[in-house]
Amino acid sequence: MNIVILGAGLMGRLLACELARAGHTLSVYDAAAADSRRAAAFAAAAMLAPLAESAVAEDQVVRMGQYGLTRWPELIAELDAPVFFQQQGTLVVWHRQDAADAQRFAQLLAATGKRLPSLPQQKTLDAAGLDQLEPGLGAHFAQGLYLPGEGQLDNHQLMDALLAQLQRLQVALHWNSPRSPSDFAPGQASGPDWVLDCRGLGAQPQWPGLRGVRGEIITLLAPNVTLSRPTRLIHPRYPIYIAPKQDGYFLVGATEIESEDTSPMSVRSALELLSAAYTVDSGFGEARIVDLVAQCRPTLPDNRPAVRRLGSRCLQVNGLYRHGYLIAPAMVDVVLQLMQGERSALAEEMDCHVADAPRNGGVTTVIASPSTLRQAQDRPSSGQAEARQSMPPDVQELA
Ligand SMILES: Cc1cc2nc3c(=O)[nH]c(=O)nc-3n(C[C@H](O)[C@H](O)[C@H](O)COP(=O)(O)OP(=O)(O)OC[C@H]3O[C@@H](n4cnc5c(N)ncnc54)[C@H](O)[C@@H]3O)c2cc1C
Repeated sequence: MNIVILGAGLMGRLLACELARAGHTLSVYDAAAADSRRAAAFAAAAMLAPLAESAVAEDQVVRMGQYGLTRWPELIAELDAPVFFQQQGTLVVWHRQDAADAQRFAQLLAATGKRLPSLPQQKTLDAAGLDQLEPGLGAHFAQGLYLPGEGQLDNHQLMDALLAQLQRLQVALHWNSPRSPSDFAPGQASGPDWVLDCRGLGAQPQWPGLRGVRGEIITLLAPNVTLSRPTRLIHPRYPIYIAPKQDGYFLVGATEIESEDTSPMSVRSALELLSAAYTVDSGFGEARIVDLVAQCRPTLPDNRPAVRRLGSRCLQVNGLYRHGYLIAPAMVDVVLQLMQGERSALAEEMDCHVADAPRNGGVTTVIASPSTLRQAQDRPSSGQAEARQSMPPDVQELA
């Protein structure tokens, strides 16, 4: 088949690789230049933490994330270049004065564990337990949580490896080429067989309600820091994560601000992220600041991902929000199933939203499954919870 993909970000590259490997003829169009790093895919920390995220995300996302953790090693193994992938669990720590917040967090995770018993369960650690996993951490924190099985990958290595593979598979790559689904007539004599719209925030003109949620993240080079697994700090104002990559590099992130501003990182965000990281490990005091990035996460009104059918031969994938890497493997497999038949068993199993785009261009009406509705009644949306948790006071007032 001839397949057109709009957007060479995370979803676009993954889908293009899978389909090209299966023998289809692919054309990929991206609005940016070949060496651009503007896609949200490049800004991410690429943490794969379904249980940790369950404190702020719906079970649908958690289930997709659990599926993703099993699929990533397979997807990475298909690539020619190595991609750093780690599955040594997540650590969660807090300072003594934030014990009440930590207790609330642990309760949310315990509730997730009851609803989704197949998830690895959290373990409580004392200082000695922390030290065993991350030598030195027990000196700063009396207690922590360990979330086994959670992971992370190196997103820049992944994006580069996917691109190299697309080139090797002779996929036609069109850079500096913004397109919209209406530029193609899929299924008609002159058009491709399929159009897959993976434009992230670039789909805003055709997808009302799609918004950007600003996130800022810092890359540090810290040879003196020995943290080896993603570590989250619970804090009422500065909840941060530290994601150790290879060769002494660490990502410290990420703010979450209801704004589509992609201007450079604010001084306040830099101070907060760096101060919080320093309290986790004073070795960050001598780290070098390598990069400061601000980018927006493509987010739908309910903060959940969705697939829309725009006509019979165009699928739009969007709303991956702060969980793109976590859930991308599930979204890829859902799209591949939908290209083969009307329904996706995987989407149904995971409550992934699949809907027809409204003909008048208005907001999509998503028909939620009974379990999704039950969940929505039980808890605040992740957006509400997270906004309250991580926005500075002035932004909270606006939200
Ligand atoms: C600070 C930050 C931290 C994050 N951390 C994590 C994390 O730890 N774990 C996790 O799972 N997720 C994380 N994410 C989320 C993740 O990065 C996104 O969910 C994911 O990148 C979305 O993928 P996408 O393919 O939909 O969009 P993108 O990756 O943004 O790609 C969209 C592509 O479409 C192109 N495009 C736009 N308009 C057009 C057009 N008209 N025509 C053609 N092409 C177009 C763009 O140039 C871009 O290349 C984070 C995001 C941010 C910003």
